[in-house]
Formats: sequence, C-alpha cells, structure tokens
Amino acid sequence: MKAWLKQGLWGLDRLFFPQCCENCSSELKGDEAILCLSCALALPRTAFHHIAENRAYQNFKGRAPIERATSFVYFTKQGMMQHLLHRLKYSNRPSIGVYLGSLMGEELKKTGWLDTIDAIVPVPLHWSKVRQRGYNQAGLFAEGIAKASGMPVWDRLLVRKQATATQTRKSRTERITNVQEAFRLKRPELLAGKHVLLVDDVLTTGATLEACALELKKAGEVLISVATLALAID
Ligand SMILES: [Zn+2]
Repeated sequence: MKAWLKQGLWGLDRLFFPQCCENCSSELKGDEAILCLSCALALPRTAFHHIAENRAYQNFKGRAPIERATSFVYFTKQGMMQHLLHRLKYSNRPSIGVYLGSLMGEELKKTGWLDTIDAIVPVPLHWSKVRQRGYNQAGLFAEGIAKASGMPVWDRLLVRKQATATQTRKSRTERITNVQEAFRLKRPELLAGKHVLLVDDVLTTGATLEACALELKKAGEVLISVATLALAID
C-alpha cells in the first residue's frame, strides 16, 4: 500500500477509534502507545537494576540460588500499577503486558543488566488457566522483554502441574507449601551451562519464583536471575 494512503487510513482509524491512555484515558498523540507520555513518566520505577543488594534480591537471599534480581516498578494498593494490571486482566488488554515488559527490557538492556543471560523463562500458569484467560500474564512480560532485548523465550521448559488455589489470602508458609510441588522441569539438558531469567508479574513473598528456581536448579549447571514487573509494597 502507498505510504500516503496508509498514513491517511491510519489517521482515519485514529479519528473514528481514538486510542486512549490505559491509565488516564486521555487521547494518545503521535507515537504514544498504551500510555500517554506523562503517565509513562509517572510509572513508579524502582531503579533496582542499579543496586545489586536491592529489595527484590534480598527477598531471595539465603532462600534460592539467585544471581541477581530486579523489579521494574512498585505495586501499591490503589496505585497506578494496580490499575494497569487490573485492566490487563479484567478488560482483556494483553498489549499492556507486552508494553510494560518491553519498557522493562529496554531499561535492563541499556544498563547491561541482561548481559550474560541466555534466555527468558516465564513462570508458567496451569494450562486450564491459560485456556480460561487466553494468555499467561508472566508470558506477556517475557514477550515484551524479548522484543526489547532480542533474547529467546523458553516457555515450555517449566510446566505447572496443578492449578493452585488463589494465593492472596494465604499466609507465607501456606503459600510456600502450596507452590513447592507445583512445577516440573522438562528438557533439563537444554539448561546445561546457561543463565536464564525467570520472569513474573508481581513479587510478593517470592514463594512461586523460589519454587521455580529450585526446580530449574535440578538441571545442575544452570544460573538463574529473576525479573518481576512489579514489587508489592504496603
Ligand atoms: Zn495518561
């Protein structure tokens, strides 16, 4: 299609179906996608990737064999991230997940945080939940990081054996017992000598990521780092 025609149609599309910021609903302009510029700038970033002993890393220290860990933004009740993740999940907006993942991926790549990492492994959902929702949220963030960094996503290495009950009302010990046996590693031979990045949506207790890391470690010579989109704080 000719460029001027394509541009004209794109303009018409915007005229009849104006695209709005997923956070403040103002109309998007120019190159803006998903978030308007002021909302993108207002994302509650942690800058953890500049600090080795950050709160995400300390969460795993002594519990799981993790090389480094980071969370891109803070998640608070009633905050911007809760709103965006709620829209992703309940208004069926998977593009929000890929967008946030790519912002995180760009930032990590730029600062060299991803150097030495070979592949991205999203925390899996049970197949029945993927069917119900249509996607795995962690998989969307992984896709975004892959888009920004050019790294492959290995999403068939870990499988979730059981559809665990909702975790939010459980105590830390209950959550850990609940997820400890939830994952199974397939094709461990692919991991030999590799450094993988485990990716999830929100870091709360870290029990799920810990269980995944311990399962990946069954492959032996494997290094694991962790990146979550958000870190939950009070
Ligand atoms: Zn906005």
